[in-house]
Amino acid sequence: MDSLPGNSEIPKRLDKLKTKRFPIVKKNLVRHSAQTFVDNKSPYVLPISMKISLGQAGSSPMICACEVFMADAQNLSSTPDRPLPQETNRLRIYFAAAAAVVLVAAAIFLQTFAASPLPMPAPYLGPLPSATPPKEIAVYAVFTGVNHRVAAFAYRGGSFFDRRDFSMAGTLVRHPRGDLLIDAGFGHDIDQQLRALPLFFRAITSYRLWRPAADQLRAAGYDPKSLHAILLTHSHWDHVSGLPDFPGVPVWVTTPEREFIRKSGPMDFCKLFTGIRYEEYSFAGGPYLGFPASHDVYGDGSIVVVPAPGHTPGSVIVFVALHNGTRYAFVGDIVYQMEGITQREERSWLIRKLGADEDSAGNRRNLLHLIAIKERLPDMIVVPAHEMRAFAQLPKLSAAGAQR
Ligand SMILES: [Zn+2]
Repeated sequence: MDSLPGNSEIPKRLDKLKTKRFPIVKKNLVRHSAQTFVDNKSPYVLPISMKISLGQAGSSPMICACEVFMADAQNLSSTPDRPLPQETNRLRIYFAAAAAVVLVAAAIFLQTFAASPLPMPAPYLGPLPSATPPKEIAVYAVFTGVNHRVAAFAYRGGSFFDRRDFSMAGTLVRHPRGDLLIDAGFGHDIDQQLRALPLFFRAITSYRLWRPAADQLRAAGYDPKSLHAILLTHSHWDHVSGLPDFPGVPVWVTTPEREFIRKSGPMDFCKLFTGIRYEEYSFAGGPYLGFPASHDVYGDGSIVVVPAPGHTPGSVIVFVALHNGTRYAFVGDIVYQMEGITQREERSWLIRKLGADEDSAGNRRNLLHLIAIKERLPDMIVVPAHEMRAFAQLPKLSAAGAQR
């Protein structure tokens, strides 16, 4: 064995390692570098710790730097000289391997949040549907609360430092043949209901209830019982919480979504409800804007539902056309925020796997088709269920709107 360094050599070596920074992700995540964590020339096992930091620079949403610190340098430098035992050598290799695994895992994890635009879909060249909406048809946003998130939760390329309030809302659609509420938002019992969700999800969820939809309707002079039906884009917790506040009002769901409710997955608390009047509907109508089938609620083209499975098996998109020509697409959770459409970014792998999407490929197909439709109909207002900026383009519910 070579002669070993004395105590006096160790502090120099520690200083050198202690101050070094190792960038593993730089602009657009194109550069990677690995790092050896143990000084191979040292006969000592050097205790190390790592600090991984996130940041933002220019257009790049994330920077990850890994700093390696030598722990307890004082104690180490006072360690008496001794020969290197076999076990120590083995430990040194284990430390290096473990540190490399942690570093690589962190880099892979962060890369799943990096921007990765989907390919531009083929343009939609099919026919545009006709509609003869009645003069009285109108839509109103009914905000019930917010969920505090960050952009990284919503779409790839979103920053962890860009705080977003996700809208929890319903939409009142007034039609002379019967008013509909698209999704119910947060209800009276949201605090109690949330306890039924998995612990990890509660740990990352912070929300605020403003006012349940039923209360807002009443306050505007509208009897919630006079609703013709509640039409769900899908049955996840944040869209159904308010259902018990509308006793007796039918809840329209597709057959696959009704089955999904029966199976009662971890992100669902319909299982807590009793007495909900689910009514299933089917898609007896022909293709609509490139979707294979449709359900024209009143036969006038003003409210048309199409199947959009993926986020859940029975997810739908609700198209609404007003008399003045304004078109809306209420797309549920196909995307959480507008950047999903404008930047063609789906949710990160982690968010999808944590229960956001039942069928990621199906949701991606619907997202791409939606992007193609938006290209064809640029004036159509796309309203993701949790996008405040889209709901801001809808009139708010008022006494005048509710009572006319
Ligand atoms: Zn949702």
